[in-house]
Amino acid sequence: MPTYTYIADDAATECPICADGFETVQTLSEPPLTTCPTCAQGIHRIVRRTAEVVTNQRWNTKKMLSDGNLKAKGFKKLVKQSDGKYRDVLAD
Ligand SMILES: [Zn+2]
Repeated sequence: MPTYTYIADDAATECPICADGFETVQTLSEPPLTTCPTCAQGIHRIVRRTAEVVTNQRWNTKKMLSDGNLKAKGFKKLVKQSDGKYRDVLAD
């Protein structure tokens, strides 16, 4: 089920739930919420542009997952050896 983000119509509201926005899981067939479940003020759904964020990144996946970048960011890269044990190949 998709997660939707809602935020108050009135940006000046002091409701702790809808003032900064909140996420809720709904089925595709459910109608969008129109009022905050806490304060009953009007709210509206925000369309999140996840895919756009990813495509606008300067980094590509190959570069991001390169051994050098992983090591620089403090990750381990565990590779299964022929003896069945895993070895951190970045620790070499
Ligand atoms: Zn509210």
